[in-house]
Amino acid sequence: MTIRSPAWRRARIVTVAASCVALVALYGSRREPLQATVPQSAAAPSNSLEILEVRPTVFVIAGLGGPGGDTANVGVQAGEDGVVVVDAGSAAAAPGVLDAIKRLSQKPIRYIIDTGPDADHVGGNETIANAGEKIFAGALGGGAQNAAERVAPILAAEGVLRHMAKSPAGGWPTEVFHYSRKSMYLNGEAIEVLHQPAAHTDSDVFAFFRRSDVLFAGDVLDTRQFPVIDVERGGSIQGEIAALNRLAELAVVSVPVVTREAGTIVVPGHGRLCDQYDVVEYRDMVTIIRDRVRDLIKAGRSLSEVKAAQPAKGYMGRYGNPGGAWTTDHFIEAVYRSLAREKS
Ligand SMILES: [Zn+2]
Repeated sequence: MTIRSPAWRRARIVTVAASCVALVALYGSRREPLQATVPQSAAAPSNSLEILEVRPTVFVIAGLGGPGGDTANVGVQAGEDGVVVVDAGSAAAAPGVLDAIKRLSQKPIRYIIDTGPDADHVGGNETIANAGEKIFAGALGGGAQNAAERVAPILAAEGVLRHMAKSPAGGWPTEVFHYSRKSMYLNGEAIEVLHQPAAHTDSDVFAFFRRSDVLFAGDVLDTRQFPVIDVERGGSIQGEIAALNRLAELAVVSVPVVTREAGTIVVPGHGRLCDQYDVVEYRDMVTIIRDRVRDLIKAGRSLSEVKAAQPAKGYMGRYGNPGGAWTTDHFIEAVYRSLAREKS
């Protein structure tokens, strides 16, 4: 397993163990995208994970989730107070993720923040939480007295619990909130957990590490494909665009000193690291497609006619999937359905 540092920081590559999944962060000129490419599946062993040092105390664990399984990018903030994990990853990836966390820090895991309800983000909750330890008000030392204190709390928007409660699997959130922001202060920095209503689902959050200036966007941002809009679970195209707008507002680029190669780093649920420009570009793409679909609906087109008109034209090469779990047609249908729902 290798810890890589984006090239805009002085590269400090620490080899922890052998691994061959490429999560390569390159950051050249200002407009050159940060290329942290997540797994080119076929050639990579199924249990490969790689650790990327994003900022001195913030890391991303990325890779494949196990036999045939994809896992979300897992965020780790490690410091004096312990470890905060953003998304536990898939169940299959959990042992490898835990191993990677332990290589980064020997301190207890204090919190898991779920950015959404999907299995590739929450599947590892139970394993990671069980390896953690609750932090006590006013005390950081050990002294966990009972079983409930010997696990890390799992923090999520209320909807995550509602969606997960439909399945018997464990690892449900233990601290849920239904307001717009939950905040805490750990490892010398403010951490904001910001709810995004009705975007990818009804229970997405961003996790913003303010001093490190790293924003975890969850599946609101997925650089591999068009965003997944789960209309059944309360997602909507308007909420998705609103969430991308918020992301673009929260992130700051390195101006006026563009050569400094600094600025907010935005970590998507899947795919490569982004900066604010990348978020704006993605937001514009989604907005353009939404507008095209809306115009077609206004012109009285049916869903199949909308699909046939190819409203994602110009973006299909980069974000489209002809097959798989989230195809271009799935995306267009979700946009259509959420706009139609809005109208009615
Ligand atoms: Zn995901």
